[in-house]
Amino acid sequence: MIEEKAVTRVSEEQANSRLVLGHLVNGTVVHFNESTLDVFNPAHGTVIKQLAVGGKSAVEAAISAAEKALPEWKKTPAIKRARIMFKFKELLEQNSKKICELIGQEHGKIVHDAKGELQRGIENVEFACAAPELLKGEYCKEIGSSIDCWSEFPPVGIVVGITPFNFPAMIPLWMYPLAIVCGNCFVLKPSEKDPTSTMFIAELLYEAGLPEGVLNIVNGNDETVNLLLEDKRIGAVSFVGSTRVARTVYASAVNQGKRCQALGGAKNHAVVMPDSDIDSVVNQLIGAAFGSSGQRCMAISVAVLVGDALAEKFIEKIRLVSDGLRVGAFNNSDNDFGPVVTREHKKKIEALITSAEDDGAEIVVDGRLFKPSDDLHGGFFLGPTVIDKTKIWMESYKEEIFGPVLQIVRVETLSEAIQLINKNAYGNGCCVFTGDGNTARIFSEEVWAGMIGINVPLPVPAATQSFGGWKDSLFGDLHIYGPDGVRFYTRRKTITQKWPGKKLSEEKQFSMPSNN
Ligand code: NAD
Repeated sequence: MIEEKAVTRVSEEQANSRLVLGHLVNGTVVHFNESTLDVFNPAHGTVIKQLAVGGKSAVEAAISAAEKALPEWKKTPAIKRARIMFKFKELLEQNSKKICELIGQEHGKIVHDAKGELQRGIENVEFACAAPELLKGEYCKEIGSSIDCWSEFPPVGIVVGITPFNFPAMIPLWMYPLAIVCGNCFVLKPSEKDPTSTMFIAELLYEAGLPEGVLNIVNGNDETVNLLLEDKRIGAVSFVGSTRVARTVYASAVNQGKRCQALGGAKNHAVVMPDSDIDSVVNQLIGAAFGSSGQRCMAISVAVLVGDALAEKFIEKIRLVSDGLRVGAFNNSDNDFGPVVTREHKKKIEALITSAEDDGAEIVVDGRLFKPSDDLHGGFFLGPTVIDKTKIWMESYKEEIFGPVLQIVRVETLSEAIQLINKNAYGNGCCVFTGDGNTARIFSEEVWAGMIGINVPLPVPAATQSFGGWKDSLFGDLHIYGPDGVRFYTRRKTITQKWPGKKLSEEKQFSMPSNN
């Protein structure tokens, strides 16, 4: 237990105004003696609040709260857990305007994009509402004479979730609603870059009736994550973020005997076949490449154009459409996309564009030249960028850029396009645009990636499926949310029972029990 004196609530005024964002423990916002980080509004480049960096006290408080809540929560009937999620869904819908504003202020994504994100999150809450059905187990009568056998799916215990900046509402909702209806208690460590919408949403779950301690949030950075991973009371870890961090979080969790699913970065390719409708493909790829400033793990970052004739038409069209895009602040729905998340991230993207240029690629549309309106001059903006004649040895191709940048690679055949995708280190998503069923079939059979689109540029699985990539895009066995999510957040317990009508055998038996 933490000592009472360690809890130093910031002044009532600061806490109420939420200028210093604390942690959520037992459904209440708490502060400790700890350092803080700046949270920015990326459209203006200004600091809008401070975020507490959870140290030992905050981590201990959150895990202890979860530990205390667990015995009661795991015995709560699934239908009662689900009822809280029904109410939560309602509250998410009622508060959607406020949530989208909070997302926009700290992430920068345009309000229509934030609405889409929230809706995808709500669909995961709807899936979690099916808990009684999802958890009803498997039964097998008479596996032997008078012997029945069944499998139950009890919770893992206390689960930790670590989430990235790019979907501050949706990605936490991939995790804790399902983990919680499965009977677990949850400790979430949101991204330090845009934590406010995540906190606000978690408070709505308490408003929906969640018992104290079932969901707790510790804000902070990598050190906070390490403290959570080290704790022996944690049974499972769901991580979503960059591949570099996913790899280390996975290794650390697994080495400490925890189950872990760690979803990493991506380099998603769209193959455009000569028989596709170029006008429609360009419009779809523009949205998939530049929506949310390219900061989606399923964003298309490479267009693989099959045949030179197609490439010339494609480039002419994409140049034209890109020039007409509107880049600006989140609260103007006419904007197509907003700033990138931090000044450092903007510099990293610019450096990768420059490296492509230095390596001999052709910058067809140059987002580095973009100038925002005067009131946004301090914002972290980049315009859309299209780079032609990319080669696979270039640093800009090997790295995940995670910005509004579409690279073009030209190939001659479908088979070359498939080989290119399969050689890439990442395997999150990819898609093909074609009018031919056989091409689509070959593509989906032969590519090494977890999520495939056929004439669909962003094949993000619905909540009833599960989400996850292959290769360096996911460490672990199970994908996130949907049916794999249920498996991840539960253990299998199999019970074999005999109630014979006649007296139990008293003979010793040393051979393996079998049906013979
Ligand atoms: P990130 O890896 O920098 O951070 C993710 C989380 O890990 C944050 O909560 C952060 O505080 C924590 N963290 C950072 N460094 C750490 C360290 N050294 N040790 C322990 N924890 C650490 O990612 P980001 O910049 O917030 O998000 C963008 C990345 O996430 C991109 O690479 C994107 O492709 C990826 N992403 C993947 C998916 C997916 O489903 N595969 C979904 C969304 C985002």
